[in-house]
Order: sequence, then C-alpha cells, then structure tokens
Amino acid sequence: ITKGGESYIEKELIYGANNYSPLSVVLSKGKGIYVWDTAGKQYYDFLAGYSAANQGHCHPKIVEAMYSQAKTLTITSRAFHHNLLGETEEILCKTFGFDKALMMNTGVEAGESAVKIARRWGYEVKGIPANQAKVVFCSNNFWGRTIAACGSSDDPDRYKNFGPFTGLNFQIIPYDNIEVLEQALSDKNVAGFMFEPIQGEAGIVVPFTGYCTKVRELCTKYNVLMIADEVQTGIGRTGKLLCIDWENIKPDIVTLAKSLSGGLMPISAVLAKNDIMKVLVPGSHGSTYGGNPMACRVAQASISVIKDEKLVENSEKMGRIFRERISTLIGGQISEIRGKGLMNAIVIKSGKGAWDLCVKLAQNGLLAKPTHDNIIRFTPPLIINEVQLNESIDIIIKSIKEL
Ligand code: PLP
Repeated sequence: ITKGGESYIEKELIYGANNYSPLSVVLSKGKGIYVWDTAGKQYYDFLAGYSAANQGHCHPKIVEAMYSQAKTLTITSRAFHHNLLGETEEILCKTFGFDKALMMNTGVEAGESAVKIARRWGYEVKGIPANQAKVVFCSNNFWGRTIAACGSSDDPDRYKNFGPFTGLNFQIIPYDNIEVLEQALSDKNVAGFMFEPIQGEAGIVVPFTGYCTKVRELCTKYNVLMIADEVQTGIGRTGKLLCIDWENIKPDIVTLAKSLSGGLMPISAVLAKNDIMKVLVPGSHGSTYGGNPMACRVAQASISVIKDEKLVENSEKMGRIFRERISTLIGGQISEIRGKGLMNAIVIKSGKGAWDLCVKLAQNGLLAKPTHDNIIRFTPPLIINEVQLNESIDIIIKSIKEL
C-alpha cells in the first residue's frame, strides 16, 4: 500500500460491511486506461470495474452526456413518459438486433427480470402448469447476489446461510456439456436456460466452439428460452459486440449491464423478441430508476463511443496480441492463457499464486484481481492501444519473473 492509504482503509474497516477483500490500493482518480491512488501513483487498470469501464474511465463524451442531462432532467419514474426512453430503447434494439428492450439498473436485476419473463412466458405461452416452471443454470455461474442468483449458485460462498432456496425450482447442470443440457431441457416444465457465453467470475471459462450453436438448437427443439447473460461478455469485451455473435446465433433474451454506462452509473437492460417481452404488462414489473432520463443519455453516449471508436474491433485485435505474447510464458509459472478479445485469464501453476502476483503487479503499476486462488483475469478498457498494451504485458512478464 502506498503511503497515506492506510487511513482510508481503516475507515472502511470500522464503518463498512466487510463483504469484499480488495487489494490494498486506494484509488482517487481515473482517466482512460489509467487509475491513480491517493499518493498519485499511476496504474494500468486491467480490471476496468469488472468490465464496466470498457470505454475507459471518465470518458469525456459520456461524462458530458451525464452532466448535461443532470442539469436538465434526471428522473420521472415510469409514472410519466419522458423524451429519451423510446429513442434509447430503439438504439438498444437496433444495435443488438432485438425487438424490445426493458431498462433496469444492475446486472443482477437484468438477470432477475429475465428469469421472471421466462417463467411467465413458460406459463402463458408454453403452457407449463401453474408454479411448475423450471429454469436451468450452469455450475460456476455468476449473475449477481440476490436471493434468486444465490439460489442458482453452486458456490457455497454465495449461498451459505442465505437460504432457504427451496421452491425456486432451479436446476444446475455442468457448463460446456451438451448431453446433460439436452436431458435437462427435455423436461416439459423448463421455461428457460440462462448461461454466460464465456463464464467470467468462474475464471474466464471458454466453452468449446459451437457450444452456443448447440444451445440454440436444443432450446429451439424443446421450446425453451435461451437466455444469454452478456453482462460481462457483452458490448465488445470479447471482440464481438455480443459474445454470441462469435457463432452468429440469436438467443431469445440477452441481459446487458456494466459498460452500458461506461462505468458512470448502474444501467442494465433486458433485450428480447416481441412475443416474449409481451408477457410483461402494466404493473407486472418495474423499477423506480429503470430507464431514467440520465441513464438513457448515458447509455446512448456509451454505445456511441463503442461504435465511433471501433472498440469492438480494437478489443479483438489487442486481445490477439495479448494472448500471443503471454502464451510465450506457458511452461514457466503459467500453465494456461485463455479468453477472447480483451477478456482473458492466466492460470498460475502454484496453488495460491494469484494473489501474490496481483500484489506484485500493483507494485509494478498494473491492477488486476484474482478470480480463484490460481487464476487472474485481465480485462483492460477496450480503448487500450498497442503501445500501452505492450507496456502492460512487459509489466506482467516482469512481475511473473519476480514471483
Ligand atoms: N452477470 C454476469 C455475467 C456478471 O459477471 C455479473 C457481475 O459481475 C452480473 C451478472 C451481476 O451484475 P451486477 O453486479 O451489476 O449486479
């Protein structure tokens, strides 16, 4: 920890809920791909707010959109119409190729909404008997921390002593396994299958090429809604606008969040086809802040930046360079590098080496966070250029050698 940071951390320890274990850096400024701590030390940000800051920290166009809207109109609630909601929904639908958008706030709310929509669709369209609808998830999934999200998790850290979860009627099956998926979906009471096209928190787990296509086929065959959780993988992170675009398939529902706001505020969205979203009728779902004017302006600006600065293409190009250079380390301390676009992780051979390496990386000017004891995720803002990327890789290589 750099000098002067202790007092901030101490205050968190005294007054804050102890529900995270952050690295000992205290940040006070961010710009583009960099963040600075309270002592003025500069770091490459290779977490980017868990991919919320794909457009880079404090992007001037997104900040300006937020600022100007903050002075104009920030909230109406959905009790009234406002001038930005429809056009933002149109942009979301046309950008990602869906008929209807539902704006919410956080990623987990988007997931909850998707599950609600799937269940209601199950009863009203598929004809599942009352209270029998089942939703299928994958092991090691992560989609947030609500009761439903915890109830669909097989990680004890997430669900222990938060139960009961009985009655949710969720089924957890292995990820990346088509045979088990087919068995699960053949149950007539299954309304939806929700999965991440690449599992993020699980440690950047990339399924076999063709997995999403098979999921699509099986969901169609058994009349089950395919729900792609693109909260982390979406909006350019994997080198395509959506990660499922790698296989050119269309899920029935997609959830988005994180960089839908460029890291400025919580904004999420559920996108779906018409005949699915229509199960939501007035009074059935909503949120005070969902689709508020400021969120609309910020989301519009965030999407514009992704398009105007060609960040999807840059993510793909930089990701290739990253994996190519890092893969030269395989055999030493590193056993694997995996990922797509700028969503990558390295696996460290020594059992608990990830934390130590992250501390070393921070000392050398790059911030990253372990997911599990031996995996580190590298997800820099998508605006990173080749010179900056190579400098970052130099830091990573140096840090690994110093381990
Ligand atoms: N879905 C995925 C794939 C995520 O990675 C996350 C958060 O990391 C979420 C959902 C939950 O998003 P939020 O933290 O905004 O609720």
